Amino acid sequence: MDAQLRRKLPEYEAKRDFGITPEPAPGTAKPSAEAPSFVVHKHDATRLHYDVRLEMDGALASWSVPKGPSYDPATKRLAVQTEDHPLEYGSFEGRIPDGEYGAGDSLIWDRGTVESVPPGQLSQQRKKGHVVADFHGSKLKGQWHLVRTHGGAPGKAQWLMFKAKDGTEKPDYDVVAERPESVVSGRVVTRGPERSGKLRAPRPAPDVILRSHLPPMLATLVDEPPPG
Ligand code: MN
Repeated sequence: MDAQLRRKLPEYEAKRDFGITPEPAPGTAKPSAEAPSFVVHKHDATRLHYDVRLEMDGALASWSVPKGPSYDPATKRLAVQTEDHPLEYGSFEGRIPDGEYGAGDSLIWDRGTVESVPPGQLSQQRKKGHVVADFHGSKLKGQWHLVRTHGGAPGKAQWLMFKAKDGTEKPDYDVVAERPESVVSGRVVTRGPERSGKLRAPRPAPDVILRSHLPPMLATLVDEPPPG
């Protein structure tokens, strides 16, 4: 019975082995009864970035924002659309194991509820390429625009995320720098992926380096001690 309710997210599932990663497989979580939810992950992967995820269409629509959100309406941040994530991902915080897709620590940097302006149109706005999202989070409060541009590879459409001039803008406030912590655990420090063994060339011991450059001065055996 639950199988019918279970969301299918083929792209999300294809990238992950749920026997290895602690990330959730799509389950039977139901959409929020009232306002849709949002979560922003701070993801210390190959490059640190922020994953902005908005609940719509029974999943979490996701954008990867390298520099994170800004409260300055003049600062437009690149946001690369990525695959929809399951609703269960909204409570995931942890480390994706080395060698897996997205390896590295991921913190819940912010979460709360979100509504489109006007309400009830997040899905339609995404299709049209212009989302106006009103965030009610711990760190993100007020409206941001997400506008699709013409760039980006297939499945990785480029958008720009920027603060609306709705009276909550704070051009001098650097929310990413001022609030680095997880809103769930309080954790601040994150660890990126370990490089694979192939990438990390073994480093020769110092004496090996020295010998390869400077042949050692060896003693010569003689019959008599040197004069004097
Ligand atoms: Mn990510």
